[in-house]
Amino acid sequence: MQPTIWAQHIQSPSAFLGYELGTQFTRHHRVMDYYEHLAENDSKRIQLVAYGTTYENRPLMLVYISSEENMARLDQIRQEHLENINGNGKPTKAIVWMSYNVHGNESVSTEASMQTVYELLTKKQEYLKNTVVIIDPCVNPDGRERYVNWYYQYKNSPNQIDPNSKEHHEPWLNGRPNHYMFDLNRDWAWLTQKESQQRIKFYNQWLPHIHVDFHEQEVDSPYYFAPAAEPFHEVITDFQREFQVTVGKNHAKYFDANGWFYFTKEVFDLLYPSYGDTYPTYNGSIGMTYEQGGSGRAGLGITTSVGDTLSLKDRIEHHLTTGLSTLEVATENTAQLNEEFRKFHESKNYRFKSYVLNGNPDQIKELTALLDQHEIEYGMASTNNAKGFLFEQGKSGNLRTSQHSLVVPVTQNKGTLVKVLFEPNAKLTDSLTYDITAWSLPFAYGLEAVASEAAIGYNPVRPETSIKDNAVAEGAYAYLTKWNSFNDAQFLSELIKEGIRVRYAKKPFVQDGRSYERGSLIITQADNQFLDDFIGKLSKAASKHQRELFPTQTGFVEGGKDFGSSSVGLIKDSKIAILSGQPSSTLRFGEIWHFFEQKLNYPVTVIDTEYFKQIDLSDYDILILPDGDDYNRFLDKEVMGEIKNWVQQGGKLVAMGASLKTLAKQKAFSIGLKKIEQDSSFSAPSFEMNQREQIKQEITGAIFKTTVDNTHPLAFGYKKDYFSLKLGSDAYEYLDKGTVVFLDAGHSKPIAGFAGSEAQKKIGETLVFGSEKQGKGTIIYMVDNPLFRGFWQNGKLFFANALFLVD
Ligand SMILES: [Zn+2]
Repeated sequence: MQPTIWAQHIQSPSAFLGYELGTQFTRHHRVMDYYEHLAENDSKRIQLVAYGTTYENRPLMLVYISSEENMARLDQIRQEHLENINGNGKPTKAIVWMSYNVHGNESVSTEASMQTVYELLTKKQEYLKNTVVIIDPCVNPDGRERYVNWYYQYKNSPNQIDPNSKEHHEPWLNGRPNHYMFDLNRDWAWLTQKESQQRIKFYNQWLPHIHVDFHEQEVDSPYYFAPAAEPFHEVITDFQREFQVTVGKNHAKYFDANGWFYFTKEVFDLLYPSYGDTYPTYNGSIGMTYEQGGSGRAGLGITTSVGDTLSLKDRIEHHLTTGLSTLEVATENTAQLNEEFRKFHESKNYRFKSYVLNGNPDQIKELTALLDQHEIEYGMASTNNAKGFLFEQGKSGNLRTSQHSLVVPVTQNKGTLVKVLFEPNAKLTDSLTYDITAWSLPFAYGLEAVASEAAIGYNPVRPETSIKDNAVAEGAYAYLTKWNSFNDAQFLSELIKEGIRVRYAKKPFVQDGRSYERGSLIITQADNQFLDDFIGKLSKAASKHQRELFPTQTGFVEGGKDFGSSSVGLIKDSKIAILSGQPSSTLRFGEIWHFFEQKLNYPVTVIDTEYFKQIDLSDYDILILPDGDDYNRFLDKEVMGEIKNWVQQGGKLVAMGASLKTLAKQKAFSIGLKKIEQDSSFSAPSFEMNQREQIKQEITGAIFKTTVDNTHPLAFGYKKDYFSLKLGSDAYEYLDKGTVVFLDAGHSKPIAGFAGSEAQKKIGETLVFGSEKQGKGTIIYMVDNPLFRGFWQNGKLFFANALFLVD
């Protein structure tokens, strides 16, 4: 072939960066520079699209690459591809999207992306004739820069391949998650993070035929590529399975020729919908995860357990090979990919044709906001009744519907995704999975729902906003509002920040003919008479949060307790601290941090365990202990004594997950582990059977129906039951007083998801959320995690109640 003109103008990554690729880690701004260099010097074949910024303000960028001819009509190609969903148009190109470095410390990926694009534009340009390639060089720049920056601080010179050297041991906060320590490869379906929210808009514009997510795993692991492991979700088509094999075999050809080790069909399954392989799969793609051995441990080079040296250059070479091999397969199978993409979107005749949901309007709106981001169609019911499988009852029946009922049809372009996200219980072909086994959205949003085998009529409109005008008239004795969703807590948080004093009802009351439930907010003129522009601030907050305020002229109520009664509490402007660092887990800490700053908008102080002993705990009203590892070492005699004393004096301790275990062992308060009788018939399983035996003890993210005492402030605003996502089988006894949410004996079988037989025996009659008084203070126990991955919308009010209402 003739040397081409662009090859003279574009530089290889090594030439451009000034060092051989793989001998250093490239910082994000230099990666961006390199792609800009390509786009400037080969502008007819490569385009950059900025798609947003990270929490730490780094740029997020997509790179579009194809032949000159294709790039000139790129949008037309995109339209033809999308029209194919409805069986129209004659698309002829394959669309392949490759995402690099979603886990920041799996740092080879971004380096490999640069070499892949360069080779594609030079040696492998024939792949571009039939294929549009979309590259996200770094899905998680904040995490990757955290890793790279840390690595350079501790790297030996020259780099040390001895695995014991510090350059191979990342600290507590490693580079894997994003700024708020969320795992972005668990966030595709829930879209709780800024990076995911911005990316999905562009992803939906393309819905590629193939999506590859590049990762790294342990240093000693051989390369992993498709086909994936069981369990596969039942919606995955035969073609999607077969094509994974086609791709895998093509990779194997290159790996065999080079004598590289690899494995397939193990560990990485396709079930949980929020991964970079499953989410694209449920949208019609061939979604795949590729895993190189290495990650944050490996640095520029490390000795493996068999004594070889694994270098960054090797790691780049492998990801480069699978990246190009994927494009080779795509380009050879363009017609089939288009044909099968169309077929994927043909009506699947799934058993349930519609999901219909009733309940709190705030929760319905939160859910529709998520559906909008996924471009899932929905509407409001035009019928009075829907028959089918009732989620909460777990049996067939009727749901009364109205124009306030949300209908999500399954017969739509995103029908498969709808089925996966809404169905009451995903079918499990194997209980040994990598992740949680239940996530059904009606439970996550606390909505009553029916899955109907008939299509339910609806008007394609959004839920109505009932509040038109939030201006508050001056001169009332008090202003009243309800308390039954997390949006009410966001409103309260704003009021507190504005300096407005707020009270809440501990008992239901009736005023001006309206009934107010427990937790309703009471904002009096008297409490706020010295506040500047009280009415203006109150009106503004009510408008912002779309809350309806009812003025009343008297504190003498028609039914229940008057506003001056001791049954009306004053909400404190609490100073809150969260513990970070070992033994708390980064992910679990990050969820709480994100909750405060991005959801509740309430200030919080982050205190590290390293200097915890030096702070004066009495400066804080609330201390939160996140879930994590073993708390025994941190909660030593001195720290435990100090915390107990602080609680006695009026402190509020919110203890989550693993921290409870230590509190129970130390008998610090009244929380106690459930005593389990050992099964004496237990016989030793074979080595191979061990894993299967082990799983009997486990709960791998399953949904349980729990009972709620909603007369307790921790559960104000809730119904009599709550569907909790249980992530483990830790079991605690009921408290003598303050067992607020619990699993009673009849509900130890999950509503959805997997729970091992032994685990089920253990968790009957155990605590889920509870509260205990000690001296002037309080301890709140959270066995389950209502903030897990930020997606269990219906759990968030429990957390707000713990902060604001429990005294
Ligand atoms: Zn990864």
